[in-house]
Amino acid sequence: MTDSLSTHALHDLSVHDMALALRNKQVSSVELAQHFLQRSRDHAHLGAFVAIDETTTLAQAQAADRRIAQGSVGALEGVPIAHKDIFVTKDFATTAGSRMLKGYRSPFDATVVAKLAADGAVTLGKLNCDEFAMGSSNENSAIAPVGQEAVTPVRNPWNAERIPGGSSGGSAAAVAARLAPAATGTDTGGSIRQPAAFCGITGIKPTYGRASRYGMVAFASSLDQAGPMARSAQDCALLLSSLCGPDLDRDSTSLDMPAENYGRSLQDSIEGLRIGVPQEFFGEGLSADVRASVEAALKQYEQLGAKLVPISLPRTELSIPVYYIIAPAEASSNLSRFDGVKFGHRAKDYGDLADMYKKTRAEGFGDEVKRRIMIGAYVLSHGYYDAYYLQAQKIRRMIAVDFQLAFKQCDVIAGPVAPSVAWKLDGHGNDPLADYLADIFTLPGSLAGLPGMSIPAGFGEGHMPVGLQLIGNYMQEARLLNVAHRFQQATDWHAQMPKGF
Ligand code: GLN
Repeated sequence: MTDSLSTHALHDLSVHDMALALRNKQVSSVELAQHFLQRSRDHAHLGAFVAIDETTTLAQAQAADRRIAQGSVGALEGVPIAHKDIFVTKDFATTAGSRMLKGYRSPFDATVVAKLAADGAVTLGKLNCDEFAMGSSNENSAIAPVGQEAVTPVRNPWNAERIPGGSSGGSAAAVAARLAPAATGTDTGGSIRQPAAFCGITGIKPTYGRASRYGMVAFASSLDQAGPMARSAQDCALLLSSLCGPDLDRDSTSLDMPAENYGRSLQDSIEGLRIGVPQEFFGEGLSADVRASVEAALKQYEQLGAKLVPISLPRTELSIPVYYIIAPAEASSNLSRFDGVKFGHRAKDYGDLADMYKKTRAEGFGDEVKRRIMIGAYVLSHGYYDAYYLQAQKIRRMIAVDFQLAFKQCDVIAGPVAPSVAWKLDGHGNDPLADYLADIFTLPGSLAGLPGMSIPAGFGEGHMPVGLQLIGNYMQEARLLNVAHRFQQATDWHAQMPKGF
């Protein structure tokens, strides 16, 4: 420990080592908070943060230092982390990336935020994201990042001309650039896994229901899940152990299962592990560079004693239309609460009540959100409900069954996270369909409610990071983290650092 503290910069410490150094009083929480706050000022051009409040962060850090002095320490005591701006927080404004919620202050903390704080985590600030978590590039945010006058996109630390991925793009960029040792994210159709892959970090979306959705601004309630984003599986295990667990009184879809300690099984052997490789994940759409890195990672697993088993997920392609019916349907319902009455933005000039609703929503929502509200309202409307929404629900069920058949042959499933590396800013221009299609490998697991993760697995075109996706059966987070950790002990992709940070 003393070694790593003297030879490495503070921001190079893992969450694990940081927690240890804090406990051993080799560093204080205030020192760490100041160090990271300074870094986010120095790298403000990345646009990762949308809210920073130094006074609040330092007060939290001082409180953690006092607890450490008194000898009562939580698992994350004094460790600074940052939250995706989709989690409501009482000490920081919450926008969900939307003009609609600009300046909104929640009277309470999201359960995930409260759980991490209860274990001693200190909040560094709030991280940029696509509006209401709808997007794949973070270019749908309507909020100007801290230190910038205008709305500018979050930049990928590996190449400032590329997107960081989305919707948890601020989270991924902040962790990759060492502006925070870890961050929270949310994943509805890939929003933890894809930005983690694009920024070369590690992220895990747990089983649907494992983490409470209370206080997460809702996008598609049957899909939304919170999870940690950090540099390693070991650090993700630490955070996940803290943020998961039942919250039955406040989230009716929360699973009634006790929290787990995911650190315990990280070292388990993966000798004889059966890794299912879905043929549909390696078709025409997969770019050659991503394919090469993913195949090399699978070879590495064979060297570690795992066996590759060819499997089929025959309805992979259908996951795109199915998701882009179900998610907008739920979004159109969830977003009806933003009417200018109870939350956030209200139009200034209006005639009657209906006019107030219309103007408020026309001004408050961005294009992508409006598109989804319209699609959602359409597929739920009388006359189209059976043809679209109901049909999509049936196929969703079949996709879940396909996974159960696959898990008869294998223990975990592995493949690419996305068909390409991070694309250029504005690379998809005004073509939302191009974004939607790039979600093909993350959507199936989301629709089935399965846990999934992304781990760094090399570099592709333009020296941009490539992620390997691991998908487990329900409640197999411990196994996924173990399989990821074993890979990270044998490789150093996750330890690579973008230049200039
Ligand atoms: N890219 C997907 C979408 O735009 C997934 C987003 C998410 O997981 N929040 O809906």
